[in-house]
Amino acid sequence: MAAIDMKNIVKEYGDGFLAVNDVSIDVQDGEFMILVGPSGCGKSTLLRMIVGLEDITGGEMMIGDKLVNDLAPRDRNLAMVFQNYALYPHLTVYENIAFPLRLAHVPDAEIDRKVRDASKTLELDEHLDRKPGNLSGGQRQRVAMGRAIVREADAFLFDEPLSNLDAKLRGQMRTEITRLQKRLGITTVYVTHDQTEAMTLGDRVAVLKRGVLQQLATPRELYENPCNLFVAGFIGSPPMNFLPATVEGNTVKLPFGAVDVPPERAEKAAGKGLLMAGIRPENFEDASVRTDKGGGSTFRAEVDVVEWLGNETYAYIPYEAPPEVEAQLRQLERDLDGETMHTQLVVSLDGSSRIKAGEDAEIWVDGRKVQLFDPASGDNLT
Ligand code: ATP
Repeated sequence: MAAIDMKNIVKEYGDGFLAVNDVSIDVQDGEFMILVGPSGCGKSTLLRMIVGLEDITGGEMMIGDKLVNDLAPRDRNLAMVFQNYALYPHLTVYENIAFPLRLAHVPDAEIDRKVRDASKTLELDEHLDRKPGNLSGGQRQRVAMGRAIVREADAFLFDEPLSNLDAKLRGQMRTEITRLQKRLGITTVYVTHDQTEAMTLGDRVAVLKRGVLQQLATPRELYENPCNLFVAGFIGSPPMNFLPATVEGNTVKLPFGAVDVPPERAEKAAGKGLLMAGIRPENFEDASVRTDKGGGSTFRAEVDVVEWLGNETYAYIPYEAPPEVEAQLRQLERDLDGETMHTQLVVSLDGSSRIKAGEDAEIWVDGRKVQLFDPASGDNLT
């Protein structure tokens, strides 16, 4: 196994277009690193540069303590697992796993030992005589990983391996990949555009936008302390609410009313004029249900749509945004690849809430969780 250290990596395509622009990411030995971002952000290009399928325009690509910029893919000892797993349909599971060893003319006895060891780890030992066509998606994925294990690759690289699967299977595969990666302890770099995969799989997540690294952090840090509007809007589902806000003392004025925030948050945003407040849907609660109202404020608003999901209730509260905020929301939509940023507040309440559409409701908001962004630069001020 090995660490992968990307230092100031640049990829320029022909006409001066920078698909990857000065990106530095240090993947630790054994770490599960996610590269995530909307279409065209450069995540696949970056992965292809790690594996050697794409020339590196600038910067240093280190695998272990070796500079690999000019090393051929076969000399990098990395295993790439693709979307379709690239299994041979006419070969058995055993022979699919053995394939790279046969190519390398490894003696039969050694091949047998390695294939049996790997298939035990992957719980494939009962399926060794089957063909890929008779396996589930999850089993096929494990065969592809088995092939990487017998090669004793230094790292696994995944390029959107779950994007062709339906939602249920994707969920199962996520758990399976997590379990395997932890058991094998192998350095892994995984590309996805799906924020749920990024949050659930990654030890750390690198969020990219138009070739530029926005934030490199644990899923929790990204969620709780996004560095800018783009990361805040990309991570979390339903997305964070963005609302026009002004700060007076320790109070943030929102379209619905005023929310008290911790002084250290308010101080950082003082005197900055019109801001964008970011509040996640789950930072609200039905005031009639919540008993502990400490650390927050309550406001009244008319709810226009209510969706009851059993364990939680979504309530939608429309508002009008001033032009500056409206412009920033549309920009964010473009950055987020067409995701709609509504001028409506989405609140996620407890399933026991009895809030009804068309009625005024008392909503509690947790002031400790309110984030404040500069609407021009997008930077998180808190
Ligand atoms: P997706 O999720 O859609 O695959 P991505 O984030 O993986 O997107 P890349 O495939 O890395 O993005 O592409 C990054 C940018 O580089 C895109 O704007 C793409 O159009 C451009 N690009 C990729 N390959 C080439 C190429 N061979 N020549 C010119 N531009 C390219």
